[in-house]
Amino acid sequence: MPHPTPHSADTDIAVSVQGVRKQFGELVAVNDLDIDIRAGEFFSMLGPSGSGKTTVLRMIAGFEEPTAGKILLHGADVTKSAPFDREVNTVFQDYALFPHLTIAENVAYGLKVRGIGKAERAARVAAALEQVQLAHLGTRRPSQLSGGQRQRIALARALILRPQVLLLDEPLGALDKQLREQMQFELKQIQREVGITFVFVTHDQEEALTLSDRVAVFNGGKIEQVGSPREVYEFPQTEFVARFLGVTN
Ligand code: ADP
Repeated sequence: MPHPTPHSADTDIAVSVQGVRKQFGELVAVNDLDIDIRAGEFFSMLGPSGSGKTTVLRMIAGFEEPTAGKILLHGADVTKSAPFDREVNTVFQDYALFPHLTIAENVAYGLKVRGIGKAERAARVAAALEQVQLAHLGTRRPSQLSGGQRQRIALARALILRPQVLLLDEPLGALDKQLREQMQFELKQIQREVGITFVFVTHDQEEALTLSDRVAVFNGGKIEQVGSPREVYEFPQTEFVARFLGVTN
């Protein structure tokens, strides 16, 4: 079935997922999905484990190729582009920091591999560490930091590359409840400050509803509903959404 692309030339759309399907052998992980994510918005993909959220994120990042369909970033078709060639960056739940490098070296890593000179690297690392309030920890190693600090470093490392879109895969999943709430607040602050598009994967409905401008509720590789937290919470359009969000009326 052909998929219309009404927004493909619209620069207000940061990420456009058009008729995307992903199969792993017989398993359909993502089923003919369409999503338009607006530039500058905090967009969450919410749903139970196995509903296809991470697979969509990985296709936007370029780690997986769709079986069918297209992915556009700011109007450009990147379906076949390598991750390195996309103006996106990913923050993973396990932070993926290099244990043998200092914090400053970890944050500078992406700049170094892109050939950015030492003076500019130092200035940008200082600014990025400042942004996540860890300017004093640049000489430490990841093992000397708390979980919350490591998460902030992972964020600084991703933001320093000035991506158009930041993809966050359950970034707060490893933190305890109190720290999680504090980091939610910080994430939101940082997103407002930098003004870039955040695409956030979570199975935690409270987290999605607190943070997001819009939420897509996933079920079985499809989206049940997309809307503002208020819309999906107050006007769930399907039984599944109502149940998943725990709406009792
Ligand atoms: P979620 O992020 O919502 O938990 P995923 O996108 O990780 O869901 O997974 C969706 C489905 O695809 C699951 O059934 C999962 O087991 C399957 N899947 C994900 N990645 C792979 C893979 N590399 N190989 C085989 N199956 C996979």
